Amino acid sequence: MQGVGFRPFVWRLATRLGLVGSVENIATGVAIEVAGPREDVRALVEGLSGATPPLAVVTAVTVEDSPTDPQQDPPATEAQGFVILDRRATAPRGVGAVSGILVPPDVAACPACLAEVGDPADRRHRYPFTNCTDCGPRYSIIERLPYDRGTTTMRGFAMCDRCDEEYRDPASRRFHAQPNACPDCGPTCSFLPSGPAGFDDVAPCTGADAIAAAREALLRGAIVAVKGIGGYRLACDATDAEAVERLRVRKGRPSKPLAVLVADVAAVRRLARCDEQERLALESAERPIVLLSRDPARFAGAETSRASPIADAVAAATATLGVMLPDAPLHHLLCEGLPPLVMTSGNVADDPIVHDDAAALDRLAGVADAVLRHDRPIHAPCDDSVVRCMAGVAVPLRRSRGAVPLVVPLGNTGPDVLAIGGDLKAAPCVTRGALAICGAHVGDLGSVATLGSLERAVDHLLCLTGARPLAVAVDLHPGWISTAWARRWAAARGVPIVAVQHHEAHVASLVAEQGGVSHDQDGPWIAVCFDGTGFGHDGTIRGGEIFVVERDAVDPAAFQPRRIAALEACAMPGGDAAAREPWRA
Ligand SMILES: [Zn+2]
Ligand SMILES: [Zn+2]
Repeated sequence: MQGVGFRPFVWRLATRLGLVGSVENIATGVAIEVAGPREDVRALVEGLSGATPPLAVVTAVTVEDSPTDPQQDPPATEAQGFVILDRRATAPRGVGAVSGILVPPDVAACPACLAEVGDPADRRHRYPFTNCTDCGPRYSIIERLPYDRGTTTMRGFAMCDRCDEEYRDPASRRFHAQPNACPDCGPTCSFLPSGPAGFDDVAPCTGADAIAAAREALLRGAIVAVKGIGGYRLACDATDAEAVERLRVRKGRPSKPLAVLVADVAAVRRLARCDEQERLALESAERPIVLLSRDPARFAGAETSRASPIADAVAAATATLGVMLPDAPLHHLLCEGLPPLVMTSGNVADDPIVHDDAAALDRLAGVADAVLRHDRPIHAPCDDSVVRCMAGVAVPLRRSRGAVPLVVPLGNTGPDVLAIGGDLKAAPCVTRGALAICGAHVGDLGSVATLGSLERAVDHLLCLTGARPLAVAVDLHPGWISTAWARRWAAARGVPIVAVQHHEAHVASLVAEQGGVSHDQDGPWIAVCFDGTGFGHDGTIRGGEIFVVERDAVDPAAFQPRRIAALEACAMPGGDAAAREPWRA
């Protein structure tokens, strides 16, 4: 992946060992060439799988001896040192120029950056856009490859001398950190209160004053639209029943539970049960919403025995509460010392999350009392990711901010194929070579606006992967909006669509996720799929189904799911309408 700080990591390692040579990105990973005493070279190789940067994943290290020819290769001298080669400048520009190399997801602020934000002596003290090679926005700000400041939404901010120095220094934590910024040169935030004619865009207060004003407004019971990493979110005091009720009415969300943001795990434990697994999920780099149990019988310890301070209207009818910790420094600064804050997607009803500044002022005008925004544009919107810990495993319910792009190795190489899922909880995925790359959650395809964001999510995914799909996989259901969209998309590009039965698609993705397609695992597996409804090959709607998955007899690289049991069929008058209105059946 690009932008994970791996080359500087190698540089530091090699320089410390006094080795001579170079490191560079190549299509399949990173190539390192070194010369030096054998034991030092061995130490370097061992170090490569050691304390790597948090975002880097080393899947394999291959070592080759390259004997030097004294006639042709003059002996390396100490003075040459170890260098980071950057040949991207000479490589062809544009999509796919660095095939095989992907960009990482957006990453929550790292402890080193947060320490700087909290240090009055640091030049980034209380700076809400502090980031480094280990953290900060990525997926949401990259417009195209190769990943460079000029191809991100940071290109409008020219680095000051001190930031530029960090950016060029391989020993710095900010070497080639594309979103690198400081109060002198980076983005700023501003606070816009609501006036008689919409939000007051004329003289907003900026910088630290903006965050202070937003905090004050929240404490007064206001609904504040806060621009985050992946889009605008609506915030209010979660302990203020009247504010929560007002938010629900204005947003047109009468009953679905809302998530809350708190500063740290201690604050989480005052609201809900949080075991070790759940703590790890909350504090992971993707900072998802984690669904936690509020069942008093399951609370352990005195700290959770008090009545919950959260207003009933936040998550009235459920025994769970969605909780998240701050991701960007902006949110750390916003929520420290405040009561728990409701944080929900900045949208009305089921529309996609608002990420564009002009659209936010327009569409959130009737919803929010004020706006806390910043001037770093969001290119690829992402909603919050959602996970739930079950039986000791953090199970993703929605993969989005921080969790995309997700790369799943398939074991086999195949043609590029685009898949967009069904009508509900749609999310695009594309295969490229032996990888499946999943994009951000789009949502339910019920409106023109969500179809627009599906289009956008597909474009972004294809741009980041350089994939050129030879087919589009869709659900077998002939009446779905996703199928109609895919038909149009495929026709415009002259590629076929491939219809896949809903539950068989789930089974295939499960097998891939479990590493089942690698050749060392033969199966068979039992796959249990209870997922609402899926249109069947025989034209019936399927409820729950159980499959046996075995290697294909003809093509050993393929797997075939065979249905062995299913819920009994019943009449569904009105088709899908009967699922929403069971009295019909
Ligand atoms: Zn950092
Ligand atoms: Zn700067």
